[in-house]
Amino acid sequence: MRRLQKAGNVVVEGIAIGKIQLLNADYETGMNSYQAGGVEEEKERYQNAHVLAKNDLMELLNHREELSESEVEILEAHQMLIDDFSFEDAILGYLEQKLSAPSAVLKAVADFKAMFEEIDDEYLRERQKDIIDVGNRILRKLLNMKEFSIEGEQVVLCAKDIEPSIMAGLSEKQVKAILLGSGSKTSHTVIIAKAKGFVTMVGVDLSPDEVKDGDDVVVDALKGIILIKPDKKELEEYKVLAKQQEEEHRYLMERAQLPARSKDGKEILVAANISNPQDMEKAVAYGCQGVGLYRTEFLFMESSQLPDEERQFEAYKSVAKQADGNLCVIRTLDIGGDKHCEALQLEQEENPFLGFRAIRICLQDRALFKTQIKAVLRAGSHGKIGIMIPMVTMLSEILNTKELIEEAKQELKAENIPFSSEVQVGIMIETPASAIMAPIFAKHVDFFSIGTNDLVQYTLAVDRGNQKVSYLYDYFNPAVLHSIYRIVTSAHEAGIWAGMCGEMAGDRLALPFLLALGVDELSMSASQAPMIKEQIRNMDCDSCDLEKILQLKDTQEVRTYLKNLL
Ligand code: PEP
Ligand code: MG
Repeated sequence: MRRLQKAGNVVVEGIAIGKIQLLNADYETGMNSYQAGGVEEEKERYQNAHVLAKNDLMELLNHREELSESEVEILEAHQMLIDDFSFEDAILGYLEQKLSAPSAVLKAVADFKAMFEEIDDEYLRERQKDIIDVGNRILRKLLNMKEFSIEGEQVVLCAKDIEPSIMAGLSEKQVKAILLGSGSKTSHTVIIAKAKGFVTMVGVDLSPDEVKDGDDVVVDALKGIILIKPDKKELEEYKVLAKQQEEEHRYLMERAQLPARSKDGKEILVAANISNPQDMEKAVAYGCQGVGLYRTEFLFMESSQLPDEERQFEAYKSVAKQADGNLCVIRTLDIGGDKHCEALQLEQEENPFLGFRAIRICLQDRALFKTQIKAVLRAGSHGKIGIMIPMVTMLSEILNTKELIEEAKQELKAENIPFSSEVQVGIMIETPASAIMAPIFAKHVDFFSIGTNDLVQYTLAVDRGNQKVSYLYDYFNPAVLHSIYRIVTSAHEAGIWAGMCGEMAGDRLALPFLLALGVDELSMSASQAPMIKEQIRNMDCDSCDLEKILQLKDTQEVRTYLKNLL
């Protein structure tokens, strides 16, 4: 195959040189080329594949100390399923009917899947995924397909999409870049890729016919292009660029701990978005001043059991301590949308982003909510803490939460458990309702943090994960800018601070607008903080003319105006 050039949408800028590794298993090609034998031969192939798959599971569990609690739980469930008599009987039954071994496995999986689908219980229904996983594990052995593991140290991972949990497990040492077919720039998978600092592009249309594992690739996520099998000259040029990039990174890291003070003297707080206490190490090293968004739902997603108060307290305390006196904003559970929590056994919905999500769940399950609030208040005695409520649309949600916080304080007091009564209470402004009501909501809270990821999807009626409409998803749409203007000015008129924790906060093109508005804090993936801080140090707060930018008619005009300022 010859040199090939593709385009994509840049999420994390940079140059990466490496080797392609495809993540999506191609069962179809394997099935099409499979040569079936007689009944006895297929039975034997199945038995061999079964043993190999079982050994793999055993081997994975032999290294359980390297796995998360939820990974161990899943693998143990798979170990039981692979030996399930009725599953095996079903496969053998189909083999007797002269089906090939892969077809027999697929048929048995389909039968079991249909059976699970009938079950009323959401938890059991979810077990379908396990039977599919186990079936696929046997299938990979039958079709001689490799198990997924990152190979080498310069990997450019290429997939249609990747589960957030898989992304979270990828090592920064091995993976250089991520290329996704899906178009979302703000899916949680992409947010994790960003936090890890992988050069990332989405909307990349690369089929397995065009590339194969091990192909040389250059990802130019400055220009938005991908070169597969680049020629020698190109490769040399990109090596020079990559080296320059490394030097720039080194320079930014040397200056990462300096404050983000603009040329005209205004200091902006640059904080970190984190998903777990382990993220703090990088946040501190990259110069983040505390945490502007701790997505606590990841603690609820990593196991089939809900984390109790102690477990939550330990996690929040660890973050507070590592922040070393800086404010840590802990967002209360924001489950729903594209974040699934097995332990809560929620029903599937037609419109998950418009459904039972975040504060709506918490206020219906007050015991669950109070457990989290207590853990946060207790962490307050180990550092400076803020509680932040997601997805607010009504004042009553703020008032009810504050009532619950007071109740939790009284209970902790009565139980003689140390906590802080100084915890700030703020809200995310990420729905049009809260943006419109900002002047009123501001009177009841200590801070606002603008969640542009959701604010854009709800303001523009564009699903944040849908590639087909991703061309409409843009925080530089004037409608979004007007909304942000209203939110920040309402906060300041009420005497509270206004920050931003959506992905817009880490986009340097947005800085002139945000600084002109007087945003007090910007919270982002740690990997972006050194660059954003340096950019702030090199600009004046009044470079953007607010009156002018708010008169612009469309997204393109806004982008052009801001580009000229940089
Ligand atoms: C947001 O909506 O901007 C946000 C920061 O929250 P999340 O991405 O977790 O929905
Ligand atoms: Mg959100």
